[in-house]
Amino acid sequence: MPLPSEVDVAIIGAGAAGLGAARALENSRLSLLVVEARDRVGGRGHTIMPSPEINFDVGCGWLHSADKNSFVAVAEELNFEIDKNRPPWRERGFDAVFPPEQRREFMRAIDAFYERAEEAAKSGRDGPANACLEPGNRWNEMIDAISTYINGTELDRVSILDMDAYEDTGLNWRVRQGYGALMAAYGAPCPLALKTEVTLIDHSGTRVRIETSKGVLSASRVIVTVPTNLIADEAIRFHPALPAKVDAARALPLGLADKVTLALDKPEDLPVDGNLRGATMRTAMGAYHLRPFGQPCIEGFFGGRFARELEEAGEGALAEEAIDEIVAMLGSDYRRRLKPLAESRWAQDPFARGSYSHALPGHAGMRAVLAAPVDSRLFFAGEATSPNFFSTAHGAKDSGERAAREVMGALAIEH
Ligand SMILES: Cc1cc2nc3c(=O)[nH]c(=O)nc-3n(C[C@H](O)[C@H](O)[C@H](O)COP(=O)(O)OP(=O)(O)OC[C@H]3O[C@@H](n4cnc5c(N)ncnc54)[C@H](O)[C@@H]3O)c2cc1C
Repeated sequence: MPLPSEVDVAIIGAGAAGLGAARALENSRLSLLVVEARDRVGGRGHTIMPSPEINFDVGCGWLHSADKNSFVAVAEELNFEIDKNRPPWRERGFDAVFPPEQRREFMRAIDAFYERAEEAAKSGRDGPANACLEPGNRWNEMIDAISTYINGTELDRVSILDMDAYEDTGLNWRVRQGYGALMAAYGAPCPLALKTEVTLIDHSGTRVRIETSKGVLSASRVIVTVPTNLIADEAIRFHPALPAKVDAARALPLGLADKVTLALDKPEDLPVDGNLRGATMRTAMGAYHLRPFGQPCIEGFFGGRFARELEEAGEGALAEEAIDEIVAMLGSDYRRRLKPLAESRWAQDPFARGSYSHALPGHAGMRAVLAAPVDSRLFFAGEATSPNFFSTAHGAKDSGERAAREVMGALAIEH
């Protein structure tokens, strides 16, 4: 489809935020276009089927804070099955490699860490979250490993105030057919220009001029939803320049989390939805979800510097590391029972350049700076702009809806 020459509202990016904005404006009578660099919608939400019996969410998988997650109603409306079983990571440890008594001790240590962080946040002073570790605690390396999964980075790069602002209601559900598949269905009605990469947003004239790989588009209002690393790297530029936005994006970098799925022969030997993690005193270590939804596979999860090293080692390194770790925990028999199916490499992905945002110590306030509109014509959404649900898909969707309301508010003032 050729690019139209003008629209009322252009939305840059068809991830959860862009789709949320477009769906919120669909009955507004404004002409809309969602401009997306990839050949698909969903962005960091993407479900694939690497084998006929396995659904794999390469990006987001969990409906976090499910009782406040706006994708739950979307799933219900679109008849996507929701799995409400408790997640494996706390309650369903695989006893043989992480004995229950040790696991309880670890849970006590990590809960105490979060309590100290909450206390520290009350002072209103920011700092690196690793300052809240108890010096000498034997579980510190593992608490840091959990940070690489949750924040995509180690605690020394995480702001205490930002970490404390995240709203975790403790309920985590899943979509049986995949979170990415749900996003694709949710985005189906949106007017889209796929494979159209935006390079410049020129807001010097009366209308905003958007330069893309498929030509130029003009719009009255623009909602920008691309990941922070693209704004920070100036892969998408503004004219006149917006240094405050670039600085905010640099203070909210995307950390790294990567996933791998391995086909499992004779799956019945392992528990459905079990959690496999050794009581290792290391940060550089994967976490494993055994037989998600009963599927014949094991999903591995890596974060932070370790995930970056594995990506840099090349295609297949994640699977190789996962198999080595599982064999060390469950026995050499697993070397022939596991077969690599698919793995993510989010840092190498040119339109993501990472997994999810965290605020650097001292920069918790930057989410509001990034979210603020410019001249009532440029609006900003995306997970990194969410005040309490940043780093999540529903936080991204809600931020898109917030930007859509801002656009409507700006137009109402104008007329
Ligand atoms: C491995 C992994 C696991 C995760 N797990 C969870 C989880 O369990 N639960 C959860 O809630 N969240 C999870 N997340 C985070 C969640 O996926 C994201 O926070 C959310 O999807 C971000 O949505 P967004 O719309 O802000 O950004 P994106 O989804 O990144 O959308 C931005 C869009 O902009 C496009 N774009 C970029 N540059 C350009 C350009 N120049 N021109 C045009 N288009 C452009 C991109 O292609 C993309 O489609 C996970 C993420 C990863 C990577």
